[in-house]
Amino acid sequence: MSQPYPHLLQPLDLGFTTLKNRVLMGSMHTGLEDKAKDFDKLAAYFAERAKGGVGLMVTGGFSPNMQGWFYPFASKLSSKSEVPRHRTVTDAVHENGGKIALQILHAGRYSYHPLSVSASAHKSPINPFKPFAMSGWGIRRTIAAYARCALLAREAGYDGVEIMGSEGYLINQFTTKQVNRRDDEWGGSVENRCRFPVEIIKAVRRAVGKDFIIVYRLSMLDLVEGGNSWDEVVYQAKAVEDAGVTLLNAGIGWHEARIPTIVTSVPRAAFAFVPQRIRSEVKIPVIATNRINTPQIAEGLLSSGACDMVSMARPLLADPDFVNKAAAGKAETINTCIACNQACLDHTFKAQRATCLVNPRAGYETEIVFKPVAAAKRLAVVGAGPAGLAFACYAAERGHAVTLIDKAAVIGGQFNLAKRVPGKEEFHETLRYFGERLKATGVTLRLDSQATAASLKAEGFDEVVLATGVLPRTPDIVGIDHAKAVSYIDVLDGKVQVGSKVAVIGAGGIGFDVSEFLVHEGESPTLHAEHWYREWGVDATLSARGGLVPKQPTPPAREVFLLQRKDESLGKNLGKTSGWVHRATLKDKRVQMMGGVSYDRIDDAGLHITIKDQPRTLVVDHVVICAGQEPFRALQAPLEAAGVKVHLIGGAHTAGELDAKRAIRQAAELAMVI
Ligand code: NAP
Ligand code: SF4
Repeated sequence: MSQPYPHLLQPLDLGFTTLKNRVLMGSMHTGLEDKAKDFDKLAAYFAERAKGGVGLMVTGGFSPNMQGWFYPFASKLSSKSEVPRHRTVTDAVHENGGKIALQILHAGRYSYHPLSVSASAHKSPINPFKPFAMSGWGIRRTIAAYARCALLAREAGYDGVEIMGSEGYLINQFTTKQVNRRDDEWGGSVENRCRFPVEIIKAVRRAVGKDFIIVYRLSMLDLVEGGNSWDEVVYQAKAVEDAGVTLLNAGIGWHEARIPTIVTSVPRAAFAFVPQRIRSEVKIPVIATNRINTPQIAEGLLSSGACDMVSMARPLLADPDFVNKAAAGKAETINTCIACNQACLDHTFKAQRATCLVNPRAGYETEIVFKPVAAAKRLAVVGAGPAGLAFACYAAERGHAVTLIDKAAVIGGQFNLAKRVPGKEEFHETLRYFGERLKATGVTLRLDSQATAASLKAEGFDEVVLATGVLPRTPDIVGIDHAKAVSYIDVLDGKVQVGSKVAVIGAGGIGFDVSEFLVHEGESPTLHAEHWYREWGVDATLSARGGLVPKQPTPPAREVFLLQRKDESLGKNLGKTSGWVHRATLKDKRVQMMGGVSYDRIDDAGLHITIKDQPRTLVVDHVVICAGQEPFRALQAPLEAAGVKVHLIGGAHTAGELDAKRAIRQAAELAMVI
């Protein structure tokens, strides 16, 4: 069989060592790095990915000293006593044929503690603590700490280190004028501002010797006001290359940037043009990152010369066997990362352990284990949404005989609605994955099929799992039966042609999704990078400082009012790392977001509301109801009355705050023990 991804699977000779392919697993802080007792779990997490064929992996960030840690007692490598726990990780990786580098990350003014330091005493807009400006002596001591950390990494068995010089962390705080206001040898000219990373790399190289990988994560596009110009980025790239870097990894956007760089609505490989430009400026291999989530995309970038390696972090959380599956020509069986951030980055930024919405085993490799069953049961699963699909596949994988029944003609439940929302196209991939997985695990799939308590009883299933999901809540509003009031399901399904003025009742995840659906018309910017750059103001010509140009959002397709009863800002409970993107999109589309609303009635005139005792009529053509969900579990009582053992998962279990993350995780936990 000819190799379908020849460039992706081609080894990379670094002179003193060879990487077996062009896949770098980018750094992703899992939270397991922070406690010594979790290192066995961290080792299992990396071992699984090494076994899955990744060329080089990078750990989550470890600070070289206490000042640079994210928060007190977060991950750090600065003393010999911390080395043995890392051996568990490096041994596990090497036993499984992999290579691993430790990321050295000093958070600078992004640290959550009152003793944080930076190039200058300027607070970040996303952190409450004002940093102290480092003294010249403090800078020299910090450089020595980087070198010591790298040496300890080498002693711990790592194959290299990655020095984090992007996303707005300490090194960035030195390299950009916006934060570095110093007038000594560490500030001012580009040469002075880059002295800090250059001296770090020289010191690290001296400490670790020639045969050790040093990856430098260079902020190639800051995406913040006053960020570096392209000439300054190129200067830094060349300077760190001369100082001894082995591989140059692309960093795109600081954490405080207000342009999304990795959420699901960012086009795939949207930022690959940046490392592509750097590649012509340096001789060392360059790594492309951000929204690369399939072997096809990765192969395209490598074969077109955009980069020498591709970095993927979340796609390898979603599927540790990504590389092996690609190599076996079975890319369609990859569990694709949908870039939702819900279980990985949203967890990290809430100091919870990172995992994955589509793969709840990520980070839980030693805890969620699907052992083969001793005695197979005949299980019926009713409902082929995310919960039912995941349960059916996991249970069948263990050896149970599983029949999955749904009244719809296709699998997916509410995911079929989500995938119609512009910017949520990735949801198609999860349905494709489950389709393949059902076949591989031998689940009997019955679509267009209405299960009843009598039919399930008659078939003699040992146990029944109800994954029947939710029903939209119908709020108690006068006129709710008026023709103007429509369900979000009919809107997303295209059953209702929505007019030019619309009110949306309910501002949860679905109210936001529906509003985005209503304001967009025509092509989804996510599928057209040039369009997306205009929407967000990204300078794809790399002429503007920081990569920023004024936004040019296309005018909204409709006038939309998004409403909630709570008197607080809308979208507060959306994802930590993605909620701001949804709010910014709707703001750009001039959606009027209103809280503290009471709904008086719906009639021919539109929607009558009261806000702060002031009655008002929204003259709209339609009122779309997105007022949350109620569990749908009509089969539970009759099945139990008939003596059948019933389990509830997903929305059928609890509708409030339901999301696919909880549904799939619940499915996995039940499948593990049933
Ligand atoms: P939801 O997040 O619970 O939001 C329901 C909305 O309806 C709230 O804004 C609520 O606000 C309002 N509401 C509740 N009861 C009402 C009533 N009786 N009358 C009028 N308004 C009422 O539910 P959802 O939007 O249906 O989403 C379902 C789940 O899917 C959510 O948990 C969400 O996390 C998930 N989801 C997530 C995303 C995402 O982007 N991460 C996208 C889509 C869906 P008030 O009570 O203040 O009026
Ligand atoms: Fe990707 Fe979402 Fe999983 Fe994170 S939680 S790895 S973004 S699918």
